[in-house]
Amino acid sequence: MICEKCGYDLRGLPQRGGCPECGNSYDKDNFAGIAKPDNIYRKSETIAFWLKIMALVFGGIVIMGCSGVLSFFAKTPEKPLITGGVICGMMILIAIAMILLKHLEEKEQD
Ligand SMILES: [Zn+2]
Repeated sequence: MICEKCGYDLRGLPQRGGCPECGNSYDKDNFAGIAKPDNIYRKSETIAFWLKIMALVFGGIVIMGCSGVLSFFAKTPEKPLITGGVICGMMILIAIAMILLKHLEEKEQD
């Protein structure tokens, strides 16, 4: 049982009143101002989503960096650069596509 606005733990507090953290008024009887379990689920889903995006972008940058280093040692410096660039570009494109799809989904829900 946590505050809808700030996530403050409302257990042990009066049946209704204001959140001590942010002042959001809540009522435990009808769950007003209290985060519902699916809200919490959606929040963790959103965090997981952004972690995936960050992993994709960060992975792309790391691959690009590695291919940059490799190009110093390779006989044909273009090869690792092109390969790394293509992989990096694809990963960032996938990340952008995922963000766009998420926005479309959220628009449909509203
Ligand atoms: Zn609060």
